[in-house]
Amino acid sequence: MRVLHVAAELYPLVKTGGLADVLGALPGALAGLGVETRVLVPGYPAVMRALEGAVPVAREGDLFGGGARLLAGRAAGVPVPLYVLDCPSLFDRPGNPYLDADGRDWPDNHRRFGSLSWFAARLGQGADPAWRPHVVHAHDWQAGLAPAYLELAGGERPGTVLTVHNLAYQGLFPRETLVELRLPPWAFTYDRLEFHGKLGFLKGGLAYADRISTVSRTYAREIQGAEQGCGLDQLLRHRAGDLVGIVNGIDTGVWDPSTDPHLPAPYDAAAPGPKALSKAALQKAFGLEAVPEAPVFGVVSRLNVHKGLDLALAALPGLLRKGGQFVLLGNGDADLERGFAAVAGRHPREVGVRIGYDEALSHLIQGGSDVILVPSRSEPCGLTQLYALRYGALPLVRRAGGLADTVVDATAAAQRRGTATGFVFDAASPRALAAAIGRACRLYADRAAWAKVRKTAMTRDFGWPAAAREYLALYEGLLG
Ligand code: ADP
Repeated sequence: MRVLHVAAELYPLVKTGGLADVLGALPGALAGLGVETRVLVPGYPAVMRALEGAVPVAREGDLFGGGARLLAGRAAGVPVPLYVLDCPSLFDRPGNPYLDADGRDWPDNHRRFGSLSWFAARLGQGADPAWRPHVVHAHDWQAGLAPAYLELAGGERPGTVLTVHNLAYQGLFPRETLVELRLPPWAFTYDRLEFHGKLGFLKGGLAYADRISTVSRTYAREIQGAEQGCGLDQLLRHRAGDLVGIVNGIDTGVWDPSTDPHLPAPYDAAAPGPKALSKAALQKAFGLEAVPEAPVFGVVSRLNVHKGLDLALAALPGLLRKGGQFVLLGNGDADLERGFAAVAGRHPREVGVRIGYDEALSHLIQGGSDVILVPSRSEPCGLTQLYALRYGALPLVRRAGGLADTVVDATAAAQRRGTATGFVFDAASPRALAAAIGRACRLYADRAAWAKVRKTAMTRDFGWPAAAREYLALYEGLLG
């Protein structure tokens, strides 16, 4: 079986969040199951630099305003072959895939990602005669039009799957872009491409894909309700029979405390002792007081209201009163950036804040923290809590989406059963978060109980092979 994945991010070449991590790992895991897998990504500068042995397989003289080529090749660190959309007028620019240097959406994002979907459809129709996919698997709004282009072209086509990594990002553009993107005006209806008067890329994918998946069972249920449905819940209820939730895995080649080059000393579930060295290194890196007994709470996150970091900011004084320390790596919302920086300024020996993006430091935070906070209001899957489990930094999470599916609250009963792996709270309020922080501090004070929960957490299996088998079953069901 041949499966083409289409996405705007791919670890280690371009990453703004979990989407990149999934694309960096799932294709290789599918290849391990015998699925011939390739990935189509835009030719950002980092991708063009990494591409080796590029061979042109298709061309468009004038694709949405500029010449474009489809290249086939490979890149170091990417386990499967790549297709790259080489279109300098759209992609040869520095910085973030979605935003300009001032943090505004690139004005031509509809062309940038419309062209990605367009070429995905061409590949689906046999643009590379040497490799015609049976399934085109599109990820998120950036690839959402691929199933639409394929269906609207008519004729024989591959099966299509759309995976929603986050329903809150929908790729909405003015109606006028429809013609420019070579989409027929008659498809601009509420049950197809239109979302409240705009062209919806994700909407199109949800309407046209043969199967829809999202990244946890709980999120698959949540998005069928008004609260988390982002206005698409009715369509998702209509398509419930074609919708599945598959929890992401983690790439244990990248995220493993026994081989992680960013930690001062390796450790694992059988010998967790050297984690103390990571904690000391983390305290030092953030200029915190070197107190081994203080529980260190860590955050690695985009800073925004979905992620519930305002709750963490509000609960921070209480955490400090309980003798905890706090480190944060992240960027995003300017008020949150300022708020956390201000607390760090007042408590430099207990609170460390790094505004920015730093892959190496994110590993040290997982290795050195005792607890990783993920207080998200909504969380489709969440990867940081999965890394935290493996690194023995007990995740403290809100009961939402994939967080609810992957962390077992350390209630007395769960501890007795030996299933507890972290802390879960319900209400999206500083008070509920503070109560969970209190429970974490009390368990931390009981060294034996803590060690037991930590060991359970570290031995949970969230590798990709199991998730890849679920995707394979989805493809097999689709192809009959
Ligand atoms: P989302 O995709 O919504 O951002 P996930 O938890 O699924 O959330 O994935 C986030 C990924 O991005 C993780 O790999 C996390 O370590 C990483 N990450 C987030 N913020 C930063 C940052 N500031 N520096 C380094 N890595 C980060």
